Amino acid sequence: MANEESMAGTNGSGETAAADGVAKNVIFMLPDGFSTAQADAYRYFKAGSEAPVWEDHLTGMVKTSSSDNLVTDSAASATAYATGEKTYNGAIAVDPDGRALDSVLDIASDAGKATGIVSTAAITDASPAAFGASTVDRGNQDDIAAQYTSNGDLDVILGGGRAQFLPEDDGGAREDGIDLVDQAGRQGFDTVTTADELEAATGDRLLGLFTDADMSAPIGNGAPGERPDGEPTLAEMTEATLDRLSQDGDGFFAVIEEEGTDTWGHANDAATVMNSAQSFDDAWSLALDFAERNPGTLIVSVADHETGGMTTLFSDEANPEVFQTYRATYEDMLTEAFRRVDVDGHTPGDAGSFAVVRDTIGGYTGGAVTLDDETIASIFEAPDEETAYATLAEVLNAAGGVNYSTTGHSAVDVPIYAYGTGAEHFEGLLDNTDVGIQLAAAMGLDLPEGQGDTMTTGSDDMLLA
Ligand SMILES: [Zn+2]
Repeated sequence: MANEESMAGTNGSGETAAADGVAKNVIFMLPDGFSTAQADAYRYFKAGSEAPVWEDHLTGMVKTSSSDNLVTDSAASATAYATGEKTYNGAIAVDPDGRALDSVLDIASDAGKATGIVSTAAITDASPAAFGASTVDRGNQDDIAAQYTSNGDLDVILGGGRAQFLPEDDGGAREDGIDLVDQAGRQGFDTVTTADELEAATGDRLLGLFTDADMSAPIGNGAPGERPDGEPTLAEMTEATLDRLSQDGDGFFAVIEEEGTDTWGHANDAATVMNSAQSFDDAWSLALDFAERNPGTLIVSVADHETGGMTTLFSDEANPEVFQTYRATYEDMLTEAFRRVDVDGHTPGDAGSFAVVRDTIGGYTGGAVTLDDETIASIFEAPDEETAYATLAEVLNAAGGVNYSTTGHSAVDVPIYAYGTGAEHFEGLLDNTDVGIQLAAAMGLDLPEGQGDTMTTGSDDMLLA
């Protein structure tokens, strides 16, 4: 199958690949922590403009449990998508016994395809890691980075997490003293660290590391979904990736992740989750445009799990559209409110301090939220910062009709969307392992013997595997 696929690609004939139902190119889109409630809220957030780009392409739902937990983490979930195998929370492309597994990205590379991983998280974070590395613990960040630059598979690596590629005495976090950026350069990677450099880069292989850890919150930097000056948008990283990978006549496999939907879900910050969804939407639009122009391309889009247990309680008075007016993360709003109280010479709780907090939050929400004295008193009197934050977050979320039940992940199913050649592989109620199995099948490739051969659609048996 791989040879036939290569021949189709060598002819430059995307139509051939499309005609025989085999996907030449795969763009795997991952909005971390984003399920139906977030999708619902985002629809209203976008009020007045077009529906979210993915809505026409819903094909099914995915069950998310891992081998040792009904509530998965990103590592076990991404491993299921990448390898077709259930594993324990924290595992990066290894089975429950710690045995290394091949990912669909690995087998795509073996079949001659170009490959890339893109994330607004540190690029060594769990979701991209399960596609490009194998390790028994997602915390082995140095090891994951070293695998990326040494395995010869990856052609494009874009995201945050620069610290994992540089030695400690060079401003990085690597204890082994190895400079992976230098090493990557010798392997033909162009390294870029800003949006401008990304746009100007010309090499075939690209290593883009734009921040030390996760990339910044995509709120308050101009249009929703944009990140601060110097950091590219997810759409810009997607474009740079597709430009490069599509030069390969054999096709490509790319992973594109938005992390903000998870990070700010953990913070119960619905406004920043919505802005992160806008970032993902912009990247999706670009991927869809590419797929429409390039027959033989498959887009699959699915979250790894839901984050925050978001509940939507919209009404005439409380609609997520209000989040369009918010200009900072809730964390930054609270920090700034306390800073101003201090700078203005007030003590939290004195007469003047109430007005300072009210004005600060009012300013950052575009006047949409006016905190009452009772709420501000609760913030001042909170036993710790976490409680003060939770009090503020609840009010800011309520203005948009959103409520949260946890600062962790939940067990709800996640919607899956697919477009293009092979989209029919992703219909109905799937287990997360089916996604990995079907990604391989859609490319006409086989996972290694004994891996991903337990299709479980409609069954919970895999929980015991
Ligand atoms: Zn998470």
